[in-house]
Amino acid sequence: MTKILAITNQKGGVGKTTTSVNLAASLAASGKRVLLVDLDPQANATMGSGINKQKVKNTVYHVLMGNEEIQYVRVSSPQGKYDLIPANRDLAGAEVEMVEFSQREARLKVALEAIAGDYDYILIDCPPALNMLTLNGLCAAHAVMIPMQCEYYALEGLSDLVNTIKRVRNSFNSTLRIEGLLRTMFDPRNILAQQVSDQLQKHFGEKVYRTVIPRNVRLAEAPGFGLPVLYHDGQSKGAQAYLELAKEILAGHL
Ligand code: ATP
Ligand code: MG
Repeated sequence: MTKILAITNQKGGVGKTTTSVNLAASLAASGKRVLLVDLDPQANATMGSGINKQKVKNTVYHVLMGNEEIQYVRVSSPQGKYDLIPANRDLAGAEVEMVEFSQREARLKVALEAIAGDYDYILIDCPPALNMLTLNGLCAAHAVMIPMQCEYYALEGLSDLVNTIKRVRNSFNSTLRIEGLLRTMFDPRNILAQQVSDQLQKHFGEKVYRTVIPRNVRLAEAPGFGLPVLYHDGQSKGAQAYLELAKEILAGHL
């Protein structure tokens, strides 16, 4: 059965896109059929997958607007061995333009039904906001993955996100669950990071992935080459960490 994961956190710059691209590549490297949906007008997942956002004709925007069928929008990542529904700046207008649609929160969910059977995993890279785009991601998903940096304000933001997930569960998607919390850009020498990490485990227990993503310069460099880190420097700590995360997910994290 296809598993649809929304990778979300309304806080910016916590590693959502890095996780989306590199988990997609790592799952694909294990032989899984993977689709990555870029649901952010910044289109970082598109560029990081080696697709030029300026050159794509059809994007997730056209899908949400009902102007194009999703199977004609998907492209394959040249190196990543996974498929992509690309985005570009057009998507920034989607929220306003969708106002007139009924059930506008379910547009992505309905669109994905046409191709979900082609994949084992569908990952959705959400924008850093709790807006209509993220809501579309949460309605389409079976579960949520929350990347987070172990910083002072991280836990505060997390309770807003958990409340949003509860509201989505009550109104739109009764089976939505938190798949896991992922510690990103982790520096074990940082005492505050250790403390926040401990609190996180105390609070969320088994929901915290055992795999920790370290701060690693290779992960930051790879998007500049349009490559998942696995094909930029497969031996790097970053590449190994995302392979480990894929293994943990394949083993059925919880
Ligand atoms: P946004 O909220 O803007 O969409 P995001 O949550 O998707 O951001 P990323 O774009 O993945 O976050 O990461 C933010 C920045 O941190 C990027 O420059 C990325 O290359 C870098 N980065 C992410 N993870 C790591 C890591 N483990 N080690 C080093 N740099 C990282
Ligand atoms: Mg991002």
